[in-house]
Amino acid sequence: MAEPITLADDGTLVVPDEPIVPYIEGDGIGVDIWPAARAVLDAAAARSGHRVGWTEVLAGEKAYRETGEWLPTDTVDAFRQYRVGIKGPLTTPVGGGIRSLNVALRQILDLYVCLRPVRWFRGVPSPVRHPEKVDMVVFRENTEDVYAGFELDEGSPAARKLIEYLADELGWQIRADSGIGIKPISITGSKRLQRAALDYALARGRRSVTLVHKGNIMKFTEGSFKAWGYELVAEEYAGRAVGWDSCGGDPGERVLVKDVIADAFLQQILTRPDEYDVIATTNLNGDYISDALAAQVGGIGIAPGANINNATGHGVFEATHGTAPRYAGLDKVNPGSLILSGVLLFEHLGWDRAAADIVAALEATIADRIVTYDFARLMDRATEVRTSEFAAAIIDRL
Ligand code: NAD
Repeated sequence: MAEPITLADDGTLVVPDEPIVPYIEGDGIGVDIWPAARAVLDAAAARSGHRVGWTEVLAGEKAYRETGEWLPTDTVDAFRQYRVGIKGPLTTPVGGGIRSLNVALRQILDLYVCLRPVRWFRGVPSPVRHPEKVDMVVFRENTEDVYAGFELDEGSPAARKLIEYLADELGWQIRADSGIGIKPISITGSKRLQRAALDYALARGRRSVTLVHKGNIMKFTEGSFKAWGYELVAEEYAGRAVGWDSCGGDPGERVLVKDVIADAFLQQILTRPDEYDVIATTNLNGDYISDALAAQVGGIGIAPGANINNATGHGVFEATHGTAPRYAGLDKVNPGSLILSGVLLFEHLGWDRAAADIVAALEATIADRIVTYDFARLMDRATEVRTSEFAAAIIDRL
């Protein structure tokens, strides 16, 4: 019988034999990619002796049609109660009360880690010569920075008042016709994100964690993010991780923690991507970096994502692309992003074998040149298949 996942006293997830997992099918191509992903996930789980108690919850257009709400309370409650969930893409309501359903879920559950693993799958068309050198896992801070939503519109009374206050109190001269955004970066927000990256690197045998920042210019936000990262390593990870300066770049068996300025990083992911492994970065940097890396491995259509709170065990796993409404219901698009998000879900549950099986089967399918239209049009001698056929081909190779 399906049961909820709970949290043990030591903060680890207690996963029953058949955990209840809420899912949001998603708008647009959600009707195509969710059934495909579910079939692959169920087949891989069964092979490892697991079973998922899927339970549908509503969000987006389907929710609006059936309940008049874009994000019903029941859905948020289900994600809160059952701790994990998976979702297809959602239409962002235009002019509605909620800016973005994804942002709302992240804020309500305080999902402070945005996890984006980026690697190349043999055969996937890529714009670079050596996509195989990219194998990184990006930890993007998800709750603060200029994305925190503290913005004032140019000309508004609040913007004017703040500009005056800053002039009076701090002597800052800001043009009267400015819009204003605030960039908060806290010790709490930075260290919990960096802790998640370090724990991941240690648990998965990764070599290094790189703090990517723009601290040469923004010293007390981005620069502090870097400083707090090294501080955390010294405080909590002695013997397990070490900062570059404390070991001259030779960490021995420990995880090496280094840092790089964001603009240099964007060059180096092209020129020497194999020098980077786990990445910990602030919100805005992380947004750009994840997409740049995904493009480098040709993977925008198959890039997975997860939003996680390591303290509560909450996690929402999602396709990183949108609803591609033009293709909805055509059984045509690539379900890879949602399938690989399911892999992250399984890893979160500790179902590492089922997760690894899916990755291997997906690799084998693409290596056999069995792909959906988006890859087929860029590949030689590809066999173009439908969404459902792609899923079936993966299941055959499990
Ligand atoms: P999109 O990702 O939906 O589509 C852009 C193009 O990318 C598509 O036309 C298609 O060519 C391609 N594409 C996307 N997913 C694909 C897949 N699985 N397989 C093959 N090709 C794929 O972006 P958009 O058109 O900017 O946004 C459409 C809607 O999706 C908007 O309402 C937007 O707000 C929403 N959106 C949601 C999410 C999310 O829920 N995570 C993310 C981005 C956009």
